[in-house]
Amino acid sequence: MPFWSEFSHTNFQQAAGKTEVVVMVTGALEAHGTHLPLATDSYLPTYLAEKVAEKTNAFVLPTIPFGDSWDFNNFAGTISVDPKVLMEFYVSIMKGVFKHRFRYLVVLNGHGGNVPALKMAAKSATEKGEHVVIIVNWWRDLAESARKIVEETPGGHAAEDETSEVMHVRPDLVDMAKAVSHRVVSKFDIISGSYRDELLPSAMYGDPRKATPEKGQLIMEQAEEELIALIEQLQQGKLPLTRE
Ligand SMILES: [Zn+2]
Repeated sequence: MPFWSEFSHTNFQQAAGKTEVVVMVTGALEAHGTHLPLATDSYLPTYLAEKVAEKTNAFVLPTIPFGDSWDFNNFAGTISVDPKVLMEFYVSIMKGVFKHRFRYLVVLNGHGGNVPALKMAAKSATEKGEHVVIIVNWWRDLAESARKIVEETPGGHAAEDETSEVMHVRPDLVDMAKAVSHRVVSKFDIISGSYRDELLPSAMYGDPRKATPEKGQLIMEQAEEELIALIEQLQQGKLPLTRE
């Protein structure tokens, strides 16, 4: 069970010698419709990271529970971190990992708003040396075929896919009686502090009403399988590349 935070500094080094791979989990604390918990984007990747700690030697860092949630900042309970601050914070953590001679850092990201800061941080932290950051935006990079099979409506924010996943992972925190459907679309990227709530009514983008825990289970099982396969590939020093 290689949870980074559970070692003492004296037994850390010995366990660290068994792997070159570390998993960093990045989440958010933001409104997710009227039926899902604020920490949805942290709970889902944390669940997958715990499976990695159970089944591989890779070290798993504590989940970072805050992210850039500017879009949802007007909804109660949301706490958003400025992306410039987030970027510097990620760089410090990545450098802290790499100073321990780990080679690969898998960022298991649960939140779309974190992507620009993660990419900038990864470029800065890997500029020198042999280090590699692999960003896994799990909701779109993992379990693609399971999603295609089970989903009856398009993915989104607090939509059928995400709702099903939380129903599997934390059913005690889902209130389907409050689930509503909203999808405001534009072919352009409209950004405005004043129109945020109009663009994402009820902190929703999608239709959660067809969600079930069985759908969530299928998605999470396939995501776990693919993530563990990636970690095992990295343990053998191979990057996940195909040359076409
Ligand atoms: Zn989410």
